[in-house]
Amino acid sequence: MRRLILCRLSVHLKEYYDIEWTGDPLADGTTLMHEVEAVLAFKSDAVLDELRCALERLEDGTFGACLCCKQAIDRRLLDADPTRRVCSECEREFAHVLSE
Ligand SMILES: [Zn+2]
Repeated sequence: MRRLILCRLSVHLKEYYDIEWTGDPLADGTTLMHEVEAVLAFKSDAVLDELRCALERLEDGTFGACLCCKQAIDRRLLDADPTRRVCSECEREFAHVLSE
């Protein structure tokens, strides 16, 4: 999962800031994070920030747990979107509340 998030970070850096990062995300994630920090120091970028937070959650062990109900989020959902913070049930709940 860490690799997936780091890959997304490098793709995002390339697409939006034309920062070419060719290192191995697994072996050299720290360098990539320095790039990310550097960009974030100058710009606010919600996507970069989300990805960085996801990495932090991965490190402190809270990654993959729903913020609301604390249940594990479906792995397939996380693969599709590693920045996801709530499970599909809570998301439905939210959508319901918001639509009322
Ligand atoms: Zn939930």
